[in-house]
Amino acid sequence: MFDVIVVGTGPSGTTAARHLARAGVKTLLLEKEKLPRYKPCGGGVTAKVKNVLDIDFSPTIEDTIARASVAFRDEIRFPVEFDGPVGWSVMRDKFDMLLANEAAKAGAQVRDASNVKRVEIDDDGVRVQVNGDEIRAQVLVGADGANGLVARAAGLHAERNLAAALEAEMELPNDAVEHWRGVWHLDFGAVPYGYAWIFPKAEHVSVGVGAFVRANQKLNLRELLKQYISGEPTLHHAKHVAYHGHTLPLGGTLRAVSKQRVVLVGDAANLVDPFSGEGIYAAVKSGGLAAAHILRGLVTGNFDFSEYMTQIQNEFTRDYGYAQKLGAVFYRAPVTLLKIYQQSDLLRRFTQEIAHADMDYHTVIGKSLRQAPRFFLSKAIQKIRGG
Ligand SMILES: Cc1cc2nc3c(=O)[nH]c(=O)nc-3n(C[C@H](O)[C@H](O)[C@H](O)COP(=O)(O)OP(=O)(O)OC[C@H]3O[C@@H](n4cnc5c(N)ncnc54)[C@H](O)[C@@H]3O)c2cc1C
Repeated sequence: MFDVIVVGTGPSGTTAARHLARAGVKTLLLEKEKLPRYKPCGGGVTAKVKNVLDIDFSPTIEDTIARASVAFRDEIRFPVEFDGPVGWSVMRDKFDMLLANEAAKAGAQVRDASNVKRVEIDDDGVRVQVNGDEIRAQVLVGADGANGLVARAAGLHAERNLAAALEAEMELPNDAVEHWRGVWHLDFGAVPYGYAWIFPKAEHVSVGVGAFVRANQKLNLRELLKQYISGEPTLHHAKHVAYHGHTLPLGGTLRAVSKQRVVLVGDAANLVDPFSGEGIYAAVKSGGLAAAHILRGLVTGNFDFSEYMTQIQNEFTRDYGYAQKLGAVFYRAPVTLLKIYQQSDLLRRFTQEIAHADMDYHTVIGKSLRQAPRFFLSKAIQKIRGG
């Protein structure tokens, strides 16, 4: 009998388990794969993750990012220099392994190769079946990702806004890897309503394509990725390419993420940013929030986690609604908006502040709209003076 069972050792589950175990809660963390496990992910960790992840993950950092490079096929390509690091590139097998080890150090029991096959929830507690055993607990955390079993078993599997992304880990000649050192590259011309990315790792690059706004559009991502790779000169001469795809459950719509004795976190709770496709921050943050609500529940004996749901709505869903709106405008006319972005120091600063969590989408949209007349007027004056 455990106090809490957490299913899944991604950033959401490991964070919840670490906080719970550290507070003395008897916590079991289950993972179906053998650890460390590969996770299809760009491994782009924005600076704000550090604000919510109170452990040192520097041993897993493959590269530090202080620049971006933005493109629309061959039509537009420009660098974006930030005032300091806006994030890091990691490989998720190492990053998630470190987080699982930290949960174990805090006192959680971590069991890999443990595929949860069945979940039962009743008024007295929860039961999971794994490797032929039945294990009981007071509370269950569904941190089992986009296609998780816990949400389904708990009846929390609502209609979702699913996007897809496909990634290739590419071994390239050294000069090509060095070309992308310290840079996150995004090409908004490679995918309708999405982008292609190149994220540098210590000795290779991760290259991917994803569509984030019109999530239900039918796309042949493998074909789009192949086309992108063959059109990007720095990606020629690959020594090895391995493709991996996965679903992205986009946030922005009100959905139930908890019920009596059950809490969903991260991708299981559909918390991927619908504008950017970023999910690690929300995974870590929701893992921490879930732990706090569960601790309170264990003390009071009240396991109705409705306040957790309200907090998720306040912290994510509302602003993701603005992210969706921004995406609907941006991805419809990326060329025009990238040209404006290229000339706007303000928008560059907003990007930096979003990466650091100093600003949300609601504020960015409001400030941009207020500044727009002045921006266009100054550009018009420049044009008149110039010619
Ligand atoms: C191609 C791609 C690129 C991405 N790039 C980025 C990026 O650069 N930056 C970013 O912030 N986000 C990115 N994301 C999103 C990010 O990967 C996810 O949002 C994040 O991994 C969510 O973490 P999580 O802990 O909720 O779930 P996950 O990391 O998916 O972990 C869930 C875990 O649960 C385990 N599990 C599932 N079912 C069971 C079961 N029945 N029993 C036991 N264990 C189970 C799985 O094996 C897995 O280990 C990307 C996503 C994709 C698909």
